[in-house]
Amino acid sequence: MEFKTLHQNHRAFFQTHQTKSIAFRKQALRRLLNTLKKEEQQVYTALEKDLKKPEYESYLSEYFVVVKEIQLMLQHLNAWAKPKRITSSPLNFPSKDYLLAEPYGCTLHISPWNYPFQLALNSVIGAIAAGNTVVLKPSEMAPHTAALLEKIVAASFPQEHAAVVQGGAETAQSLLELRWDYIFYTGSTRIGKIIATAAAQHLTPTTLELGGKSPCVVDGTTPLELTAKRIVWGKFINCGQTCIAPDYVLVHEKYGEALLEQLIAQLKKAFGTNPEQSESYARIVNATHFERLTAWMQDSEIRYGGQTDKKDLYIAPTLLFDPKAKGKAMEEEIFGPLLPVVTYQTKDEAETIMGKFEKPLAFYMFSKDKDWINSLAYRFSNGGMVVNDAVVQFINNKLPFGGVGHSGQGSYHGKYSFNTFSHFKPIVKRGLWNDPFVRYAPYPKKYDWLKKFLSWV
Ligand code: NAD
Repeated sequence: MEFKTLHQNHRAFFQTHQTKSIAFRKQALRRLLNTLKKEEQQVYTALEKDLKKPEYESYLSEYFVVVKEIQLMLQHLNAWAKPKRITSSPLNFPSKDYLLAEPYGCTLHISPWNYPFQLALNSVIGAIAAGNTVVLKPSEMAPHTAALLEKIVAASFPQEHAAVVQGGAETAQSLLELRWDYIFYTGSTRIGKIIATAAAQHLTPTTLELGGKSPCVVDGTTPLELTAKRIVWGKFINCGQTCIAPDYVLVHEKYGEALLEQLIAQLKKAFGTNPEQSESYARIVNATHFERLTAWMQDSEIRYGGQTDKKDLYIAPTLLFDPKAKGKAMEEEIFGPLLPVVTYQTKDEAETIMGKFEKPLAFYMFSKDKDWINSLAYRFSNGGMVVNDAVVQFINNKLPFGGVGHSGQGSYHGKYSFNTFSHFKPIVKRGLWNDPFVRYAPYPKKYDWLKKFLSWV
């Protein structure tokens, strides 16, 4: 179907007001949940084909996350969508004031390839829960998952309520020419700017879920074995292709070698001595990203890993020792299984290195130094902070998820998704029996009275 026709159909469907009914929205979400349960195994198969994702990871970080999100919506939708009584202003006495959550209308979602299932569906769930229609364009770089998403959405929604459009950049550009009521984008900061520019032509509000270089500070006050174990999990899940993965480690010089030793030990424990044979290790999404990452690797001292196999799109979990933070991998977001370990001597030096980059999506800090933790929490802006772990902020869908500055605008997950896709409309219902003369013209002689009255209320 032509995009324009699909768009018109969505607009016409939204104008029937069917999506305003909470029962309608819940039915739609239940249908999606049922389809997902039927297609669960297909989800794992598609993710295996696109990224060689281990089923364990696909369950934990994709399928389970989506199912949980729908369940949370079903559980709380009545309460979230209920008009909220707001204290009235005495100046309007008598009045009853409300906030009514109204859907924006027709929403467009453009999603990436790294968690191609949940990063496509989670925003869709929020938009449907809030009463919008949805057009989703998944990433062309994860084609098996994209095809399955189309099948799942078609089986769960009438096409005029939610539909999937397949294609790459050109398709996205054509969709962006149309006037949407909300655009939700997940992907790189570079494309995020293109999305924001296109949205501005129609004054369409957007949420931009972008990336950045997320630091991981290790000051040596936490047990290094546990520290390394958690960093290895957060960094190498999905072969490092995680937007909130620790991008680089900043370790106090005194503990640099000891941390490297522990990281190597944990990598061997997790993926064995030949991670290419490991059933727990995914692959790089395509040859372009493979080339980019292998080039960056050449530039630093490889302390562990470094093996590659282009045919298999395999890059071993790799530790780069880069004490001066000068390598290519310390310029842009890595988004792959390379972990530069950078050393610092003083807190100031660590902060200067982190401060060189745009505001990241995440900030990790392994430390027992409460003063430094609190001081960085207040002074260092980022999408979200985790103390003594990595990536786990994602698991709590009661927390907002999103970036700030170049790592994004807006947030979602759970109630925050509902809020993102709702316009909170204030409604003031005035009573008819009290109508103080003081507000009306002619004003002369009433001014003193008005001042007294306002200072009194
Ligand atoms: P990408 O920006 O290349 O692609 C994402 C989507 O944008 C795809 O659907 C793609 O078809 C579309 N697209 C590509 N070119 C376009 C164009 N010119 N106009 C309009 N749309 C276009 O991003 P990616 O490589 O898929 O993802 C990597 C980046 O995304 C990393 O920076 C990562 O940190 C970030 N990311 C962020 C999150 C988050 O939740 N904040 C999640 C995943 C990835």
